[in-house]
Amino acid sequence: MRYSELLLPTLKENPAEAEVVSHRLLLRAGFIRKLTSGVYSYLPLGLAAIRRVENIVREEMNRAGAQELLLPMVQPAELWRESGRWAKYGPELLRFSDRHQRESCLGPTHEEVITDLVRMNVHSYRDLPLNLYQVQTKFRDEIRPRFGLMRGREFIMKDGYSFDADEAGAEITYKKMYDAYQRIFKRCGLKFRAVEADTGSIGGSFSHEFMVLADTGEDTIVACRGCDYAANLEKAAGTEPEKDDVALLELEKVATPGKKKVDDVCSFLGITPENLVKTMIYIADDAPVAVLVRGDHEVQEVKLANLTGAVDVRLATDDEINAHTGVPAGFLGPVDLNVPLYADREVMAMANFVVGGGAADIHLKNVNPGRDFTPEAVADLRTVTVADRCPRCGAEFDFVRGIEVGHIFKLGTSYSDAMKARFLDRDGREQVFVMGCYGIGVSRIVAAAIEQNHDDDGMIFPLPLAPFKVALLNLALKDEEVTAACEKLYDDLEAAGIEVLYDDRNERPGIKFKDADLIGLPYRLVLGKKFPESGGIEVRTRRGESFSLPYDGAVKIIAERIAGELAATMAD
Ligand code: ATP
Ligand code: MG
Repeated sequence: MRYSELLLPTLKENPAEAEVVSHRLLLRAGFIRKLTSGVYSYLPLGLAAIRRVENIVREEMNRAGAQELLLPMVQPAELWRESGRWAKYGPELLRFSDRHQRESCLGPTHEEVITDLVRMNVHSYRDLPLNLYQVQTKFRDEIRPRFGLMRGREFIMKDGYSFDADEAGAEITYKKMYDAYQRIFKRCGLKFRAVEADTGSIGGSFSHEFMVLADTGEDTIVACRGCDYAANLEKAAGTEPEKDDVALLELEKVATPGKKKVDDVCSFLGITPENLVKTMIYIADDAPVAVLVRGDHEVQEVKLANLTGAVDVRLATDDEINAHTGVPAGFLGPVDLNVPLYADREVMAMANFVVGGGAADIHLKNVNPGRDFTPEAVADLRTVTVADRCPRCGAEFDFVRGIEVGHIFKLGTSYSDAMKARFLDRDGREQVFVMGCYGIGVSRIVAAAIEQNHDDDGMIFPLPLAPFKVALLNLALKDEEVTAACEKLYDDLEAAGIEVLYDDRNERPGIKFKDADLIGLPYRLVLGKKFPESGGIEVRTRRGESFSLPYDGAVKIIAERIAGELAATMAD
């Protein structure tokens, strides 16, 4: 492509609205333009990068036996009523009515539509397993669209759905998708990690998120230093606590006037938060529940939601606490509490600790589970900390930041049950399909690649995702010999299958260098005034390696280097 003919509106200044580096650089380098909140146009280079991702995704999905189709973006409300999600999905679902007052939505995801398609068209175990995917624009009315392509309202997703005859089949399909995802992100040239994610009511280790590692990521990954255990913060668990073997002391009431906060109570009583247990009131859907965690621990709401089966879990307000328990906030305790009580498993291993006294300005000392209160259930209900150790090997955890670019999930029969999607098994009996779903944030990957790979001058594209592999800079446009050499090199590179952005603009060298750095193509080839004399091409990789190549044979050497780099991203 000739730069002079390309729609590539680069900006000199940093756009004020962009808070993260990928957003800034995508705007500055002319890859995207905002139409309205969370909705972007992809300009030629932005689209080229997206296409690179799509191609890798398609190749690996097809290789894993999945078939591509394309489902409608507009979805009728009836299907969502059948699955029960019309009521549950909330305001992220953009709903509207057509001229006949039929309710519809714009697809944020396609479980309903695909389940409907399959139940209408697949009737026998002989047609299974079936794995279907699409690459499509999704719409989610995100509460806070931000960071450009990282969290848009309209974005491009690959979503896939599998249908198996039984659990065992679904697990094999899941493993195939896990392997395909490993290959996809490796081929994108990204540093990433697969982490165990929350499975809600499904259970088992059948949900993984694929995280691109970047300091600016919104998600926290808990990764073991000693083995390959990694989980997202909602799911990560430490080792099982061991019970202190100490004599139980007698329960004691102490006055703690005005001491509501953990730190205040601790300094007043001369104890540490490890000797105190907090009683937190949550509203799980509409019902109040109490959760006990150690003073220095935090309740993990996703774990609490799983235990209670609630869809929505939130902290109660002070007024709600008072209304439900009759106790002022700050003085709650588990003894004689009148709401369902759940305890983090750590609490059950503690002895002789302090809790709120169940009345203003009072705390209790030497409280012991079993003797002084009995929770309805005990579970791992807290977020891990740096003090926790790996549940598999006992090593320390690293907490690193990541960007979620993919998510695979064994759905089980939740959709096929709700939507009565059935087939006939070998014995002629009706069975429901066992499903899985597999998402990849195609447009988000481009942003994540930049978050992970950039410097002060611009983007540093991983070779497999770069819109062009080579930037060819002609710094002496008026010199006929240089221009002729550039034109030929441009043709020869393209003929060798290497995408080239040929900067043939009538611009100063400084501007060409700046723009090339900003766009971040892996190889920069420069021919300038000195070329007729030297006969050499100055090569610089975007990661900073410089060398010169004789004009003759340069294409072959560049082509070999690129082929070698791409080969290294392919799994063995
Ligand atoms: P998040 O927690 O980031 O909102 P999600 O759990 O809602 O993601 P999924 O429903 O699993 O995401 O969607 C599959 C993939 O689509 C995600 O892994 C992510 O890469 C991408 N994705 C989700 N929401 C957005 C968005 N608003 N903008 C861009 N990509 C997105
Ligand atoms: Mg989301």
